[in-house]
Amino acid sequence: MAEKILVVEDESKIARFLELELKHEGYEVEIAYDGRDGLERAQEGEFDLIILDLMLPLMSGIEVCRRIRKFSNIPIIMLTAKDDISDKVTGLDSGADDYITKPFAIEELLARIRAALKRKTIAIKEAQPELITAGKLTLNKLQHKVTYDGEEVFLSKKEYDLLLYLMENKGIVLDREKLIENVWGYDFIGDTNVTDVYIRYLRSKIDQKYGDPFIKTIRGVGYIFESQE
Ligand code: CA
Repeated sequence: MAEKILVVEDESKIARFLELELKHEGYEVEIAYDGRDGLERAQEGEFDLIILDLMLPLMSGIEVCRRIRKFSNIPIIMLTAKDDISDKVTGLDSGADDYITKPFAIEELLARIRAALKRKTIAIKEAQPELITAGKLTLNKLQHKVTYDGEEVFLSKKEYDLLLYLMENKGIVLDREKLIENVWGYDFIGDTNVTDVYIRYLRSKIDQKYGDPFIKTIRGVGYIFESQE
């Protein structure tokens, strides 16, 4: 499948030139002519890379970049009109991966695009073992962070450990003893009903909060983690 690039550029001549050149290279291209439209398209569409002009009507490239970074780490290449060091610094500060100064040679931009897409592929490959996902729920083992549809879910240490174990054993029925053994440890002394308490905490923070049930009770046995997808 062709990789999809969003071009946010108000100068129609440049925008059309980029569209033509990128399509010629085999990319799918969408154009936005102002910052606000660019941000909306970035939120709605599935793009592999964004080429973002710095000076844009309605919302500056810097602001667009900052806002995109709140929900996505898609590669962004900034186009800066002037060879101004402060613009570059601001562009990179706002989360852009790379920048190119106008006027630019199309070969140089294409090379930057290829490099950015390659970095993205490598990053995804490397990141994957650290991420466990189930529908809109994502657990990042490296960062000890859980998100639902991009929103962070704040969990205590035990809640996190329990969720991790459940997600790693997706689709498998787990009885209370197994949960105790693997989450609380062999030396746990106490009532196995503690698992029910923590399952309830998780459900209130995820299943019930987002109306998306992941943890199901198997009566008389234990629990199973399943996602709708
Ligand atoms: Ca412009």
